[in-house]
Amino acid sequence: MDVYDITIIGGGPTGLFGSFYAGLRGLKTKVIDVLPELGGQLTALYPEKYVYDVAGHPKILAKDLSKALGTQAQLFKATMSLGEKVTNMEQTENNVWRIVTDKSSDHYSKAVLLALGAGACVPKKLDVDYDRNMEGECIFYAVKNKERFRDKRVLIIGGGDSAVDWANEFSHLAKNVYLIHRRDQFRAVQTSVEEMKHNKVDIKTFYELKQVIGNGKVEKVTIFDNRSGQEETLDIDAILINIGFVINLDFLKSWGLKMEVNAISVNEKMETNLPGIYAAGDICSHPAKLKLIATGAAEAATAVNFACTYINPSAKAFPGHSSNLNLSI
Ligand SMILES: Cc1cc2nc3c(=O)[nH]c(=O)nc-3n(C[C@H](O)[C@H](O)[C@H](O)COP(=O)(O)OP(=O)(O)OC[C@H]3O[C@@H](n4cnc5c(N)ncnc54)[C@H](O)[C@@H]3O)c2cc1C
Repeated sequence: MDVYDITIIGGGPTGLFGSFYAGLRGLKTKVIDVLPELGGQLTALYPEKYVYDVAGHPKILAKDLSKALGTQAQLFKATMSLGEKVTNMEQTENNVWRIVTDKSSDHYSKAVLLALGAGACVPKKLDVDYDRNMEGECIFYAVKNKERFRDKRVLIIGGGDSAVDWANEFSHLAKNVYLIHRRDQFRAVQTSVEEMKHNKVDIKTFYELKQVIGNGKVEKVTIFDNRSGQEETLDIDAILINIGFVINLDFLKSWGLKMEVNAISVNEKMETNLPGIYAAGDICSHPAKLKLIATGAAEAATAVNFACTYINPSAKAFPGHSSNLNLSI
């Protein structure tokens, strides 16, 4: 049986930085992610958005940050198991954890870092009939390439940060932008909502989508006012649906993890209640929790350094300064 020192579940920014750190500490490391690509939310949800609050990067596209994190994560040749969903974990006789995925039950590790983010985040789908072949062509749940919206008539559905931010961005790029939201209260930050009101965005509150019309591609949509039922038809080329995610983390409780609402409870060493299992990033909860890329990185470093002392009790938690190392990388 091939036993790793540490297995990191989740290849988002937290898991990737954890992978780098584990390599720096000389740990035999594996990263498992259900997605086919590394980067977590950076790649899956907002690759084309700029991030401004990551140390050392005044402004960086999420996809470029993800790429840099991926390169750093693999400096010490961690094993990457992508496209595998972790479904269970159990401790075997000699304190080694067996990690079961939908593809294999052959992952063994002395310690585990859970960097699951919001879980295997699946976008909420609209309860409207449409040709599913249009998804990724003219009906989107995330923006992978904003150029696809250039000079298009775009309908955005949602009232959160993603919907409003894209409405603002597309107002300078697309031919027309409509944003429909089923309420008149937005979850997005107020400054973005104010910006949207001043931008070229046709905002329709209390409106919902009723029908997508088109053969192979979107041509028109019917929307309706959910107070009066009054319908309207719009000429549309592309639809962006940002109505949130299906989050189901109940399975973590069945692994025996102590949870706080939708997050794993950790202490200041990022230890969970299970021996050798650590958590970091968006998935974990502690009194000073901030869900940011920067804090996830710090938590990953903490978790890996303490995992080091768990694996080898004579190891120090403090790793020393990397600038003192003479790495041939
Ligand atoms: C639109 C948007 C803009 C944002 N902008 C910023 C910003 O400007 N600055 C900032 O600091 N933060 C920003 N954030 C938040 C930031 O992206 C998150 O805090 C960060 O991605 C959390 O990293 P993570 O690695 O903990 O989790 P994630 O990025 O969610 O990664 C978790 C990974 O775990 C995998 N996974 C989950 N469950 C399983 C399983 N069972 N088996 C295998 N793999 C699994 C997922 O597939 C995913 O790849 C933004 C978020 C959004 C949505």
